[in-house]
Amino acid sequence: MARYTEASCKLCRREGIKLFLKGERCYTDKCAIERKNFAPGQHGRVAGRRRKTSDYSLQLREKQKVKRIYGVLEKQFRNYYSKASRRSGVTGENLLQLLETRLDNVVYRLGFAPSRKSARQLVRHRHVHINGQVVDVPSYQVVPGEEIAIKQPSHGMGLVLSTIERRGKQEMVSWLNVDFKTQTGRLVEIPKRESIPITAQEQLIVELYSK
Ligand code: SF4
Repeated sequence: MARYTEASCKLCRREGIKLFLKGERCYTDKCAIERKNFAPGQHGRVAGRRRKTSDYSLQLREKQKVKRIYGVLEKQFRNYYSKASRRSGVTGENLLQLLETRLDNVVYRLGFAPSRKSARQLVRHRHVHINGQVVDVPSYQVVPGEEIAIKQPSHGMGLVLSTIERRGKQEMVSWLNVDFKTQTGRLVEIPKRESIPITAQEQLIVELYSK
């Protein structure tokens, strides 16, 4: 399966914001954005100062940013956009809803993994159940009412326990229910835009793709 292989911190530096791609490290002063907040590469510092801000470049950067946050490649992202544009409602919101209800993202939001990348690994390595059945497809679209659980023999995994310990102190998004004791969670409803905690101007992505 195709996936990003570029260094995660480079992606954040390219976008100029924290994308939280590396789990625990992102919350420490080892975060590359804290130390080198300019684009990577030989001309990174200069490019930052001279960066052009045409409409196209803004739209492109926004699309790249959202793609990178969710760890989705171009073709798959395009497919999500096509699906979102065929649905009724606001296309940008539909797009974020599709991305948010991916299984890897839900596992991350529930606080069972420190990053979406780790959540994807948990899913691929068959540690995650949906309604009691193993699902090993990170792009699986979770629907409201489904129960997402870390399967019983994997409950003692250090990665899951340490994430629960840290994330357990943070507020859970309103559209998910979680029980850390049993390591289970449930998607209560499809999230509205205002309940999706990412800083993105999805309208710019719609403008880019509808040209
Ligand atoms: Fe981005 Fe995390 Fe790397 Fe910081 S540590 S630059 S937030 S991936």
